[in-house]
Amino acid sequence: MKISLLTSFIASVIIMMTLFISPVLSADENFSFADKLTYADNIRSSQPKQFLVLINELNQERNQLSESQQYYLDYLNLYLLIYQGQLKQAISSANILINSDADRLLKFRAKTSLLNTYANNQDWTEGLSTISSILPELSSIKDAKIHQLALIITSIFYNQMGQYELGLSYAKQVESQSTQGRDQCIAKGLIVESYFQLQQLSAADPIINNAISLCRINKEYLQISFIKSYVAKMHLANNQQGKALQVLNASLQDTLNTKFPFIIAEYYSLIAQAHWFNKNNELTTQFALAALEQEKEQNRSTSVAKVLSYKLLFEVAQAHQNYELALLYHQKYAIADKLYYDESQAKYLAFQLAEHQAIEQRGQIDLLNQKNNLLTAERALTKANTENTRLIIMVLVLTLTVLLFWGVRLLRAHKRIKELAEYDALTGIFNRGHFTQLAGKALKYCQSAEQELSLIMFDLDHFKKINDTYGHACGDWALQQAVTACKNLGRKNDLFARLGGEEFCILLTSCDKKTAQERAEACRQAIEDINTEDSGFIFTITASFGVTDAHISGFELDKLLADADSAAYAAKRAGRNQVSVVDADKQFNLQLV
Ligand code: GH3
Ligand code: MG
Ligand code: MG
Repeated sequence: MKISLLTSFIASVIIMMTLFISPVLSADENFSFADKLTYADNIRSSQPKQFLVLINELNQERNQLSESQQYYLDYLNLYLLIYQGQLKQAISSANILINSDADRLLKFRAKTSLLNTYANNQDWTEGLSTISSILPELSSIKDAKIHQLALIITSIFYNQMGQYELGLSYAKQVESQSTQGRDQCIAKGLIVESYFQLQQLSAADPIINNAISLCRINKEYLQISFIKSYVAKMHLANNQQGKALQVLNASLQDTLNTKFPFIIAEYYSLIAQAHWFNKNNELTTQFALAALEQEKEQNRSTSVAKVLSYKLLFEVAQAHQNYELALLYHQKYAIADKLYYDESQAKYLAFQLAEHQAIEQRGQIDLLNQKNNLLTAERALTKANTENTRLIIMVLVLTLTVLLFWGVRLLRAHKRIKELAEYDALTGIFNRGHFTQLAGKALKYCQSAEQELSLIMFDLDHFKKINDTYGHACGDWALQQAVTACKNLGRKNDLFARLGGEEFCILLTSCDKKTAQERAEACRQAIEDINTEDSGFIFTITASFGVTDAHISGFELDKLLADADSAAYAAKRAGRNQVSVVDADKQFNLQLV
């Protein structure tokens, strides 16, 4: 790695470049503060003395300035600090401004000034971190001059670091975008430097003359000196010391006129080298010493010129067999070379570290992105699950509602069917079928439990006549009234049923014949007592009753029914409206009214 001459120079003076076209205002005491600030900004590099006066004035008037004007003044003060070489203070001022509420563009300018300062200070790590905060903002900087300046300073910084490919890419951006002659000259100079360092340049490359003529138009003689130094180096590398000397001598005066020790030292050392190749020991020594003299004027620990000069002095001393002097120069050469090596190493390490951090940061960002994707997926899954659960609940609720609805309907239908199947529609008591079922169970129970059991049967008297006389509806009404009359007298466990037409029966469990007989009698009386006024007619309802029990008829329903029916028939024959009880001899005892 070699120290880049051109970039070092530009880094020191770039900040002094006029960023703005020639001043729009002439110096006048009646400037407004805003005008004064703008004017100071415009003349800051072209008229440094007047700039200093203006800044001093503005600093005294500071408390009359608006907040944004104060920030602007801070920026100009920052420029002044850099100009005066107070780099430490410049760095802290720049950082204060960058972290303030100042205008975004002003803060961006402060960042480029900071980067420039780090380049001067050879503070690679800080410089790289400043670049990483400048670059993302670049695309939003619409002010072309500030944009170009940021690109130039970035390119310079990278070249100074020895990252020539990066330096080249930014210089090329300036070359393709800038319409300013000076920017073009600097960009081309940086491109030549990068190509040279990357060993992609030949002395005949047209870009060299192109850059030189552009810089000449813009009176950038120092740039020309740098570019020519690369040409000379290329000649020297090809053992064409004659050509090298020709190039160096031709531009030596212009180079001396720049009064810039760095490039002058470079020229002297290259001339010394050429003379060494020409075996001119005297001139070699003379120019090498001249180069070292220039080096003394710079605040640099080492440089290519220094290393080369000591090396040449050592070689000359050795050739003169002056070993004591040779040893001395060799020691100095070794120290300068070591320092140069260390500096190169430091730059390289700083760059590697920054790269590593950037990769790590990217890695972390990737990791965060992955985590984020995972979280998004999880959130989507949770949402989907919730949605699913919601849907399942909805389906369940719907199904349950439907089931409940149909269940209720089924239950009702079932109840209705049951009612139809079990009860007599007109009177509401058991029908014959259901009665037969229930009676079967009751009989079985009473038989096994040796319980008393009696059966009453009754048939309405001359019912046909009621129908015929008062109508069928009145007959129905009479049927209902008769049932109600008997039901009111009954117990909960009685099985009361309509066997058909106007025939009824009551199965009485745990009830002996005598009680059954009394019950039948009570029923008979109740029917007879029915007041028929509500039917619209006045008539009497009567019924004939037959009573039997399990002692006489056994526990078979058919037998019980048949015996009770026979008894009822006996009551009819005996004149109706009476109760007939079967006795042990199968005789019917009539209980007449
Ligand atoms: P007896 O005293 O001998 O029993 O004479 P009866 O007229 O009651 O007997 P019969 O068997 O001759 O007539 C029964 C009548 O009952 C015939 C039928 O029309 C009538 N009947 C049967 N079921 C119903 C009914 O549900 N409603 C009405 N209004 N009449 C019915
Ligand atoms: Mg009958
Ligand atoms: Mg009858």
